[in-house]
Amino acid sequence: MSDRAQFGRLRASTLFCADCKQATPVRERLLLVLPEKEIYEYLCTECSASVGRREVSAAQQVMRREAAGNGRQVRIL
Ligand SMILES: [Zn+2]
Repeated sequence: MSDRAQFGRLRASTLFCADCKQATPVRERLLLVLPEKEIYEYLCTECSASVGRREVSAAQQVMRREAAGNGRQVRIL
């Protein structure tokens, strides 16, 4: 299997997928945008099952943007 090259390109973290019965690379998808936070869903890249969720508060988003703007482009949604 040559998933090593794919993994490098995806730049994703891995989570345990119940369907695949192993830790698989995940895709992050913006699920819901609220005034005070955003909710992201993690999808298994192997079978597209939802394997987890993450909530990012508004304060964390600001921190992320400042960190991203430190040298590189700033992404403001
Ligand atoms: Zn899976």
